[in-house]
Amino acid sequence: MAGKKVLIVYAHQEPKSMNGSLKTIAVEELSKQGCSVTVSDLYEMQFEPRATRKDIIGDLQNPGQFNYGTELSKAWEMGCLSEDVIVEQKKVKEADLVIFQFPLYWFSMPAIMKGWLDRVFVQGFAHDFPQCFDSGLLKNKLALLSFTTGGDKGMYSKEGDSGDIRYLLWPMQHGIMHFCGFSVLTPQICFAPESVTEEDRVQMLTSWAKRLKTIWEEKPINCTPEWYFK
Ligand SMILES: Cc1cc2nc3c(=O)[nH]c(=O)nc-3n(C[C@H](O)[C@H](O)[C@H](O)COP(=O)(O)OP(=O)(O)OC[C@H]3O[C@@H](n4cnc5c(N)ncnc54)[C@H](O)[C@@H]3O)c2cc1C
Repeated sequence: MAGKKVLIVYAHQEPKSMNGSLKTIAVEELSKQGCSVTVSDLYEMQFEPRATRKDIIGDLQNPGQFNYGTELSKAWEMGCLSEDVIVEQKKVKEADLVIFQFPLYWFSMPAIMKGWLDRVFVQGFAHDFPQCFDSGLLKNKLALLSFTTGGDKGMYSKEGDSGDIRYLLWPMQHGIMHFCGFSVLTPQICFAPESVTEEDRVQMLTSWAKRLKTIWEEKPINCTPEWYFK
């Protein structure tokens, strides 16, 4: 939809990867619709994933005993966060939709993306108490996890060795996105792109492009335990 702003947070080292292709298709399709699309290409940016003292510019509240969460939140309030975090927060603030594009690493997202979340979704900016879940500070925004797996669909079924893929989504979609107020769209999952045929890979990419054409008409999922564990 023309005028909408989309941020793609992208974590893959190789542009020719399946993740790289999924990211490129999203940029092309959403741009075609007239959306303004920004990509945070985390490996290319060499984004710092470590949550450290360096994220706070100037004096600490309590230099004698460092507490990252407390210091970060205070630094956000005082405008003393490091520049790379401020730049990413501005992108999030402007976005109507944030797409996270990544390969599944250890049932989760790659460390560089987790580090982006640790450092960017600061208390006071993304959430606060009691402003979390439906009243999280990033409410009125959409989040969508788009990822690839090594394991095939059967492996991620209830009966499969890895269990239902939805179990893995609980910490990422509910514990992070919903906690910060996002409305969560159905995840886009490409199972085992390394193991399927070329034709299947092309089909995965085509169905992502097709879905994006009507993405703004989609209703968010009901982010309750039933969606994940029933
Ligand atoms: C540290 C680590 C932890 C992991 N943990 C897990 C885990 O917990 N669970 C799990 O299931 N998996 C796990 N994996 C596997 C990982 O999720 C997969 O390797 C990854 O998702 C595959 O995606 P990719 O983009 O890297 O694939 P790629 O290998 O880059 O792509 C697959 C194929 O698609 C081709 N391709 C790219 N673009 C196109 C195009 N436009 N058209 C047609 N073909 C194309 C590529 O050339 C390639 O042949 C882990 C991997 C690592 C390294």
